[in-house]
Parts: sequence; structure tokens; C-alpha cells
Amino acid sequence: MEEEVAEVHFITGRLDGLVIRVRIAKISDVVLYQAQTPSMALHTPEVLVGPDPVRTADTLAPGYVLCYECDGPGWCTTCWGRTWVPDVERGRRSCSECHRDRVCPICRGNGEKRAATLQYYERGYCPELAEE
Ligand SMILES: [Zn+2]
Ligand SMILES: [Zn+2]
Repeated sequence: MEEEVAEVHFITGRLDGLVIRVRIAKISDVVLYQAQTPSMALHTPEVLVGPDPVRTADTLAPGYVLCYECDGPGWCTTCWGRTWVPDVERGRRSCSECHRDRVCPICRGNGEKRAATLQYYERGYCPELAEE
């Protein structure tokens, strides 16, 4: 069966970011209406509060120091585990810090690092190890 190519007409109206489009085809009496509005928040954005830390200075395992990147939470400190961050144009975008892993890329969610296995440059980020 051959597909009939219809003659289609569009009428488009724009006002202040609103778009209304009407589509009319010669072979059909169906009239298609489309409308578009600028993207807008459906509710007031909440202030993002980070989760409780998985480690604090009081709960460190022996021989460990708080992660020098997240300082104990274990979560990605850019998105706090949501995998996305707010974006002015698109509403939200993927977190470029953890790449959707949710956890801190340095401690992998542990909130702490074993002092003995830290690289020399990493020890520079840990003032508590400066004397050793
Ligand atoms: Zn960390
Ligand atoms: Zn993240």
C-alpha cells in the first residue's frame, strides 16, 4: 500500500516565549493544536542540605583520616548524591564531579582514607599528617 503524502499547512503564533501552532492537512479533517511555554519551575527550589556524614573526626577508624575531598560525608559534595545539579537553562544537568556515581570520587563513599596508603601529594591535603 502506498503512503499518500499529504499537503500540510502550519500556522504559528508567538508571544513572549509562548508558541501556538496549528497543523492542518488536506487529506484529513483532523486539526492538530500544539502549544509551548518557556520552561519554568513548578515549585520553589528547595535549599539543598547535605546528608549526614558517614565519618566524623569522632568516628574515624584507627589509622584513618577524614577524606580530604569531602571531609567525611562520603557523598559527592557537588550534587550530594542526587547525580544532578541545577542548571539555569535546562533546569538540571548531570553532575560533572561524580559522573552519576553519587559518591565522593576520592574516598568512594567511605568518608575516610587510610593514612598509611596516602600518596605524598595527598598527605599535603591533610594538615593532621603534617608532623609525621
Ligand atoms: Zn570523600
Ligand atoms: Zn555528583
